Amino acid sequence: MVREIEKQQGAAFKLKKGQRLKVIDPRGEQVSDMVLFNAHDTREKISSGKTLDFEETILITKGHFLWSNRSNKMMEILEDTNGRNDFLLAPCSPETFKIMYNNSGYHPSCFENLHTNLKSFGIEPDDIPTAFNIFMNVQFKEDGKLSVDPPLSKAGDYVLLEAQMDLIVGLTACSAEDSNNGSFKPIHYEILG
Ligand SMILES: [Zn+2]
Repeated sequence: MVREIEKQQGAAFKLKKGQRLKVIDPRGEQVSDMVLFNAHDTREKISSGKTLDFEETILITKGHFLWSNRSNKMMEILEDTNGRNDFLLAPCSPETFKIMYNNSGYHPSCFENLHTNLKSFGIEPDDIPTAFNIFMNVQFKEDGKLSVDPPLSKAGDYVLLEAQMDLIVGLTACSAEDSNNGSFKPIHYEILG
């Protein structure tokens, strides 16, 4: 069954070891931030640093694993039809919009959508790690300069991931203008097997 995360919203759910998660961009150019926690001990969570270290690349895609802060495999990426994801930048937060967008009012954010949806699993705002940013197109120059460019994902692009342990998953339809080429769309996901 395909479930929908409405624009600028989020979801949290359990995934058993061996189950697969399909994250779909139904309209194109929409980022989805994903965080993972060990379902039996939420102090173990997805780690950008460990993943980039062990996979020896900053471009994580098909064939790579997502690793935890305790150096365990959390997910394997089985398929990735777009192929561009980011694992450098933290989830957009209320402060992101103050600091980078000069926005003084309320703005929805992945950070809020992650910690509010994960609250029922005992996860607090300070527990949210750097997310695996599916479909996010962060480019970097030789001198290290970063830019957040429009996603390259087309309608129907998806990433298929297999859980390597029992997991709690947090997932969003990202709320940052620059990450989504200026418009906000839903994200679809499906739990298989
Ligand atoms: Zn976001």
